[in-house]
Amino acid sequence: MTRQQGLDRLRNIGIIAHIDAGKTTVTERILLYAGVIHKAGEVHHGTATMDSKPQEREKGITIAAAATTCAWEGHQINLIDTPGHIDFTAEVERSLRVLDGSVVALDAVAGVEPQTETVWRQADRHGVPRLVFVNKMDRAGASFARCLEGLRERLGARAVAIQIPIGAESAFEGVIDLVTMESLNWLDEAGRELARGPVPPALQGEARRARAALVEAVAETGDALLAAYLERGDLTGAELRAGLRAATLANRLVPVLCGSALRNRGVQLLLDAVVAYLPSPADLPPVVGVNPIDGEAAVRAADPAAPLAALVFKVVSDPFAGRLAYVRVYAGTLSGGATVLNTSRDRRERVGRLVRMHADHRTDVASVEAGDIAAIVGLKGALTGDSLCDPGHPIVLEAMEFPEPVVAVAIEPRAKGDGDRMGVALARLADEDPTFHVGTDGDSGQTVISGMGELHLEILVDRLWREFEVATAIGPPRVAYRETVAGTARAEGRWIRQSGGGSGQWGHVWLEVAPAGRGDGVIFENRVVGGAVPREYVPAVEAGVREAAAGGVLAGYPVVDVRVALVGGSAHEQDSSELAFRIAAGIGFKEGVRAASPTLLEPVMRVEVTTPEEFVGDVLGDLTARRGTVEGMEGAAGRGGAQVVRALVPLARLFGYTTDLRSMTQDRAQGVMAMAHYAAIPAALAGGVAQAARA
Ligand code: GDP
Repeated sequence: MTRQQGLDRLRNIGIIAHIDAGKTTVTERILLYAGVIHKAGEVHHGTATMDSKPQEREKGITIAAAATTCAWEGHQINLIDTPGHIDFTAEVERSLRVLDGSVVALDAVAGVEPQTETVWRQADRHGVPRLVFVNKMDRAGASFARCLEGLRERLGARAVAIQIPIGAESAFEGVIDLVTMESLNWLDEAGRELARGPVPPALQGEARRARAALVEAVAETGDALLAAYLERGDLTGAELRAGLRAATLANRLVPVLCGSALRNRGVQLLLDAVVAYLPSPADLPPVVGVNPIDGEAAVRAADPAAPLAALVFKVVSDPFAGRLAYVRVYAGTLSGGATVLNTSRDRRERVGRLVRMHADHRTDVASVEAGDIAAIVGLKGALTGDSLCDPGHPIVLEAMEFPEPVVAVAIEPRAKGDGDRMGVALARLADEDPTFHVGTDGDSGQTVISGMGELHLEILVDRLWREFEVATAIGPPRVAYRETVAGTARAEGRWIRQSGGGSGQWGHVWLEVAPAGRGDGVIFENRVVGGAVPREYVPAVEAGVREAAAGGVLAGYPVVDVRVALVGGSAHEQDSSELAFRIAAGIGFKEGVRAASPTLLEPVMRVEVTTPEEFVGDVLGDLTARRGTVEGMEGAAGRGGAQVVRALVPLARLFGYTTDLRSMTQDRAQGVMAMAHYAAIPAALAGGVAQAARA
């Protein structure tokens, strides 16, 4: 499909949800109604179209983001898949970067769930306009009103219903459109035929109140709207639609719809709302990057005639097409066969074929214009987060930030001769996933893989077997600790070698090491006045500090959250060199850290356990025994008597937790966890960790 329509007819959207809220089913139905596939694959039959990797079907979770194109009412919709599982928040984060609007799916029974909250906050950070689809209205215990309340209370969202359901649970049969004040009833199982009619008498009071709330909320978002509302006591359909669109784009209101994807109810109306209320690339401000040559800000409007600016947001190894790089074109036109500049790696590359991905097939396209998304086949050097542009108009777009892995395991092939194949396969997987790292243990020479959680690594090991046929064995999981300092100290680093005759080496620095905020990494500053260390050597000092920080001081874990200042030193006219300053800085940094009360940091996870009342005591006791801090407990919506326990627990004590929780509660409790933050290890334990790391 080529896009003949204008930019305003394009929507780049993603569906985000807590696992099991129905994201996959909603996606399936969207593709079904948009005519891409002709029979909806049922998730529980393991044939879901978006899940292209076999084990995703088995686990029922979508791991890797893929972009799919379909059409609705004269609009092109690019659906960017986002993973629903908590271990893959980096995938959500990168999807949010390239999509313009999103649909948040809720389970009508469970309402706002932990992962909904996590993803909602991420969407807030990226300023992504949202619609909410309250799914599963057919389930026993479904409540649209409770979901609205949850959106407002738990998420602080200015959520406004633009529909209300007609009936619920097995009697859910239609919705009232509050904008047009019509009732819409589905006539057939497939949900294709819709009868429009007046609001049934029994629902008139409720519908009038809901519409009044909608009108008031919209009227408050603009002076002209407010004036019209105060004058007439109502807004016209056209005023409501335009006002709601503007308020949604500005993140001032979140329209809420309902339906049941599984029962083919409400997905077409959701697509109508996507077109009506979510932004097109034309609604967004021009993208701002940096010109790598002069360091000045560079701005590109979403114009096909502008110089090319595009972002690689996903790299996958496709078994048939080879390496696919998904790109979002922000400005200009990307053409197959063109030469582009990858400013992130400073290299030119030829774009091979360009393809548009559909759920079950792909089509070749000659070019893609500003605002659109496609995949490049055969782009060798580009990685996720790289900027591609017109070589004559270089621009670097804002890089994507990925969290550092928190868990590591040693891995080896089961068959002796498989080492090379395992290496190639691991490199391929790391190429696709920026949160998956492959390294070697310095002492044992073993291959070590690290990622965002046990499940993340489990899935990658599974892919090694399924996709690359390399059977492997892994060691016990190890926590990726960090080092930092609790105090401030100054230290000297000297690297001075003077031989008679030939040139010597002279690097000499004084550094001050001090604590910085959590998440700050290593902050370096030059506070030398008067040129004791000439300016030309300062970058070498910084490089030496960063190298030493990466290698660790106390126990070999990276040093983070420190502020390092170059405060003095000396240089020698002939003997000083960048290398000598780099080495001196490394020595000074290590000395400084040792003198500044070094401590270890450990990853702490946010854990939420939903458990029947009778096991609450056991669950709490067990969390406390794992060094957890229980933060709160509340009744679980719609799960009669079940409680949700929220706690912060060190990752070191969570390995195997899912299995332990199951056996402790006869398989009736569920837990989810996500990285919360790094925190200092209790002093009594720090010694043991450091010792283990050195052993
Ligand atoms: P995801 O994890 O968010 O992708 O959720 P899925 O689409 O895989 O759905 C999770 C489960 O809920 C599956 O068993 C679906 O069949 C079921 N499901 C999805 N939508 C509905 C719905 O509207 N009603 C009911 N009753 N079940 C649904």
